[in-house]
Amino acid sequence: MLVNEIFLSIQGEGRTMGLPTVFVRLSGCNLDCRWCDTRYAEEGGSELSVEEVLASVKGYRARHVCLTGGEPMWHDQTPELISRLLDEGLQVSLETNGSLSIAGLPDHPGLMISMDYKCPSSGMEERMLLDNLKRLRPKDHLKFVVADREDLERAEDVLRKFRPDCPAIFTPVGGLTLAPVVEFVLGHRLEVRVLPQLHKIIWGDARGV
Ligand code: SF4
Repeated sequence: MLVNEIFLSIQGEGRTMGLPTVFVRLSGCNLDCRWCDTRYAEEGGSELSVEEVLASVKGYRARHVCLTGGEPMWHDQTPELISRLLDEGLQVSLETNGSLSIAGLPDHPGLMISMDYKCPSSGMEERMLLDNLKRLRPKDHLKFVVADREDLERAEDVLRKFRPDCPAIFTPVGGLTLAPVVEFVLGHRLEVRVLPQLHKIIWGDARGV
């Protein structure tokens, strides 16, 4: 599998925010979001076997591992890597963009799926695989990265229509401009978490941290 980088940091997004985590960033993505903040992961990287990735992750001696990208589900070996990490007793989170099926992933308590729904501002909404929404479980979460009022209204519509069986998270594009998102959530009485991107607060746009 083509690996862009493996590094130890703290989780900057979602329900496990703040936990020390080993990140495995896989290269390449099947989407092209207008506001993508990981363009550097679109190409390059090193071809590593599942065994080599596993050995590298274990070397960090952390309990949490996050598979991210790019798009991890674009790689055929990702389900095998997840199974091997779970076999090692690690807590695995998978960050996926919502356009590729998660149907083949194990329903394991150690696996948390962080799935995006790409709102209109991304330019990628028509690529969303809606079947994925019914596959999310309470241990997972559905994340909406929102840029404007249209995105917020679409996120609300999606939640009301599909009622996913997991928490929802709203995060502003860029990770920091929270007030308009909070005002919308409070005004509409939505039961969602409004979260920043913690790594942007700490390190700005630096990569590999
Ligand atoms: S899915 Fe993620 S990595 Fe792919 S283009 Fe969109 S923001 Fe970038």
